[in-house]
Amino acid sequence: MAEMLHPKLTEISFLLNNGVRMPAIGLGTANPPEKLAETKQAVKAAVKAGYRHIDTAWAYGSEPFVGEAIKELIEEGVIKREDLFITTKVWPVLWDDVDRSLNESLKSLGIEYVDLLLQHWPICYNRRNDPHGINGLSRNPVREDGSPDYNESGDWIETYKQMEKIYSDPKDKRVRAIGVSNFPVEYLERVLKECNVKPAMNQVEMHPRLPQFELNKFCHEKNIKLTAYSPVGSHGAPLVDYPPIQKMAEKYNIATSDILTSYHVRQGSFVVPRSVNSVRIASNIEFAPLTKEDIDKLSDLGRTDPKRYINEEWNKVVPGFTGTGPPV
Ligand code: NDP
Repeated sequence: MAEMLHPKLTEISFLLNNGVRMPAIGLGTANPPEKLAETKQAVKAAVKAGYRHIDTAWAYGSEPFVGEAIKELIEEGVIKREDLFITTKVWPVLWDDVDRSLNESLKSLGIEYVDLLLQHWPICYNRRNDPHGINGLSRNPVREDGSPDYNESGDWIETYKQMEKIYSDPKDKRVRAIGVSNFPVEYLERVLKECNVKPAMNQVEMHPRLPQFELNKFCHEKNIKLTAYSPVGSHGAPLVDYPPIQKMAEKYNIATSDILTSYHVRQGSFVVPRSVNSVRIASNIEFAPLTKEDIDKLSDLGRTDPKRYINEEWNKVVPGFTGTGPPV
């Protein structure tokens, strides 16, 4: 029987609700401090393997390395700026100064616009100086007693309102689309009620053990796209060794990580696996033509064995954040 040909995940893209086209798979760049500098070669390897979408953030400290890679790729004639789709995010310490956050990101990245700007978390932090932090600011500011230094009078919706102002200004060309990240349904509902620009994206942790049933339904109805972060289970890629997913990989004669990336793309969502290993980067892009039954079977793991891998300290101040995952 002739082998069926399928596109690579890097050849698939979807439209956002404002008509901007976005590649389905992107390279994650939230590398740990000891691997940050490897981000540059990772981005170069990814682009050479066909990726056209890079996911970064003000808070990752990886933007300067992404920037170096973009510069060299353009100089080498591999791509032009407009061939790339760059996502960055506004961290809660700059919740009330999106202009500064965006300008610092653009400067670190060495580019004039980003394709997608996300509000990283719906929380407000006070700013504290830290020479070892991001651009001189503490990433996770804490009070003297060690507790998170939240800005108690801050309202997270202010960040989104500043973002939509920038996006809506026809003279301001710094962002092509805006969206959010780590927003439960109730938070999205408030944005839809109080703001004018519908978010194009909600980036959340999502994989078979955290299928985000409620968010998926809501976002599908509202035409808000989802991006899956931590698709292989984050640090150490625990989902790659998870037997039910390995079994599915055997059925398709494909790597387990490809089941984990295809799972989202097959459902019309975006996915941003992270790696600094050029072999893994290039191998994470095979497409598995999962059937509806396969997807349901995988998603069932979210009922029988739910797990959230990213448990930040402040999850508990975002009611509903746990989604369909286990309590945190
Ligand atoms: P991932 O689920 O992408 O896992 C990354 C880890 O998996 C790395 O240790 C990597 O190691 C390893 N890995 C990758 N591919 C394979 C493979 N095929 N086989 C074995 N191991 C593999 O985790 P992240 O938490 O980083 O999530 C991905 C991206 O999502 C982030 O980088 C970031 O861009 C975004 N994100 C966004 C968040 C938000 O709040 N909006 C929160 C968390 C992540 P190695 O490098 O050695 O290959």
